[in-house]
Amino acid sequence: MQLILHISMIIAYIIGGCIVVLPLVIWHAHTHSYICKRCGYKFSISTFKDLISPHRLLKCPKCNKWAWQKEVKNSKYH
Ligand SMILES: [Zn+2]
Repeated sequence: MQLILHISMIIAYIIGGCIVVLPLVIWHAHTHSYICKRCGYKFSISTFKDLISPHRLLKCPKCNKWAWQKEVKNSKYH
């Protein structure tokens, strides 16, 4: 019985964490763009990509090279 309670607590924490983190990630993906450090091309990424790449190591869609891209805010949302 104790174990079931423990597991349901962990599940509650995971669900709670998703509810808090997901809107943040969606907001971040929509308000930020990236500038390729190799060719200077500005591009945005999908919410899912933003979620799985918090380290900002992204592949440039123009030159197809992996790099630690520079993060910039989207000006149209300000
Ligand atoms: Zn590039």
